[in-house]
Amino acid sequence: MENLEQVHLQVKEIFYPPEDIKKECIVQDYESMYKKSIENPEEFWSEVASQLHWFQKWDKVLEWNFPYAKWFVNGKTNITYNCLDANIEKGRRNKVAYISVDEEGNEKKLTYGELLEQVNRLANGLKSLGVSKGDRVSIYMPNTVEAVISMLACARIGAIHSVVFAGFSEGALKLRINDAKAKVVITATYTKRRGKKIPLLPIVKEAIYDLDFVKNVIVWDRDRELEESEFSKKFVSFEELIKTSSPYFNPEVMDSEDPLFILYTSGTTGKPKGVLHTVGGYMVNTYLTTKTVFNIKEDTVYWCTADIGWITGHSYIVYGPLLNGTTIVMMEGVPVYPHPGIWWEYVDKYRVNVFYTAPTAIRMLMRFGDEIPAKYDLSSLKILGSVGEPINPEAWLWYYKNIGRGKAVVVDTWWQTETGAHMITTLPCYPAKPGKAGKPLFGVVPDIVDKEGNSLPPNTIGHLVIKKPWPSMLRTCWGEPERYEKYWKEIPGNVYSAGDLATIDEDGYIMILGRADDVLSVAGHRIGNAEVESAIIEHPAVAEAAVIGKPNEIKGESIKAFVVLKEGYTPSAELVEEIKETVKEVLGAIAVPDEIEFVDKLPKTRSGKIMRRVLRAKELGQELGDISTLED
Ligand code: ATP
Ligand code: MG
Repeated sequence: MENLEQVHLQVKEIFYPPEDIKKECIVQDYESMYKKSIENPEEFWSEVASQLHWFQKWDKVLEWNFPYAKWFVNGKTNITYNCLDANIEKGRRNKVAYISVDEEGNEKKLTYGELLEQVNRLANGLKSLGVSKGDRVSIYMPNTVEAVISMLACARIGAIHSVVFAGFSEGALKLRINDAKAKVVITATYTKRRGKKIPLLPIVKEAIYDLDFVKNVIVWDRDRELEESEFSKKFVSFEELIKTSSPYFNPEVMDSEDPLFILYTSGTTGKPKGVLHTVGGYMVNTYLTTKTVFNIKEDTVYWCTADIGWITGHSYIVYGPLLNGTTIVMMEGVPVYPHPGIWWEYVDKYRVNVFYTAPTAIRMLMRFGDEIPAKYDLSSLKILGSVGEPINPEAWLWYYKNIGRGKAVVVDTWWQTETGAHMITTLPCYPAKPGKAGKPLFGVVPDIVDKEGNSLPPNTIGHLVIKKPWPSMLRTCWGEPERYEKYWKEIPGNVYSAGDLATIDEDGYIMILGRADDVLSVAGHRIGNAEVESAIIEHPAVAEAAVIGKPNEIKGESIKAFVVLKEGYTPSAELVEEIKETVKEVLGAIAVPDEIEFVDKLPKTRSGKIMRRVLRAKELGQELGDISTLED
């Protein structure tokens, strides 16, 4: 790979944080703090972990037995103690923890005191059903605070939660319940999307009918529409369970390495993996990353638009923000209903300071035009986050200008279900480069290497690896330890292979170019699919693009692009030429797609990531592979 020439998107502009934001940054001196985290990890992580509550202090920060790590060895804690009780001890009993809103503007607010009480009640309820430490509980719930209460109640008693996105079909749900051998499933009668009720309970019933190990289904009967007869020994009412159980509960004393949850990856590259996270390290790193990346202050209002069914929801709707005692907005519904300004309406209404979303949503909202966000007062925003895919510079700039109005910083956070927490991003205290994620966070030692594990010089495309264990790393893949070990054995040198390709520039900024499987090789040039897509999106008519490589006898691979146009544009031969011209200007002739096909939409995972392997398989007439996580 190293002798292939590189084709590179040039990100010219550098964006410095506005003075008022810089002044307020919790981390002022990234370089020295990072240096300490690498040179003296024992001391660094001890200091961070000491900011949290432990029933018993750890003996040793890290025990590394390749490829298995133990963090905060013999430490005893309960993550919910830190999410709830500790905040109340710090005087936050009456502070709002969650503002849970739906598409119609209905809101439910819960203070830290109220949240603790609800969690305790459900924890007692779960115990009364016979759930105990180490048992698995599947959660198939709408993106509302009731889902959060369910997760925390599990963690409170030491049960392992496995949240399944409520958009999944019966088959995908069954697979996950079965894989985890869940004793209990927590669900609701329905979830809301685009003003419609999407039933959940019937799907659960279908999924579990022959799974004998499922002892109970706890049902949140949202509109109290179920008949008495629909409840039984097996089907229990969520609200009754909460109402009739005691509000006091002593959190289970958990070992730092006890499992906290299983979560399946989003399945962009193949069959999802059941990633297992443990209590201590996950707690410490979600606490630290939320605090430093989003610069959480006592009065911060924070909104992450993810769904709790994804890792972003786990780490940055639930655990990270609660560990920092912040006020969290969460929403059930889609970004375009009842109108495409609904998110900005809520940012305005709740005076949101930190807003965290995905490039797919930004690109979608861009299509509706600049006039929509312009109608709202977005001046409360200070930090705008992005996650899930490389953010195209075009979308980055739109986000920065039209949402941040040039007064907020954009943080492009690279991480994975497996990493548990942010790994690479800029921090609000130092300048950002659109399209480049930024520098490694504390304790993270990345490198860009060839297949043999040799470090590559700056601006050379290679495999992104992490060379040292980090606290929130996955501990295994549920029931498939060989899949876990594969991450560490893919590339020589005892490093974690992320499966993404990247480059690093002279200033140490890392740019993610896409999945290793997606990157193109054209006439001896390595070209990141994300780079070509970003170049295509620079054309004003283009909303979204996905490129794939097709085998080509002469060039190795030829490039085919699938393009979605913005509202008001129609496909034409001229547009094809113009788009090709744009790519030529931005990246050079070598990256110009040989074929451009206009489509209405792109195949995506339910978490919104483009599934290029599906496009490629269809194009080449091959088997589609695992498509259980395909949107539709
Ligand atoms: P699977 O591993 O099953 O194929 P997945 O990788 O899509 O699913 P996630 O763990 O949700 O599941 O996604 C992590 C991946 O998302 C990363 O490996 C990377 O490809 C992409 N990603 C996340 N954040 C960013 C970002 N800020 N910039 C670029 N890519 C990102
Ligand atoms: Mg992955």
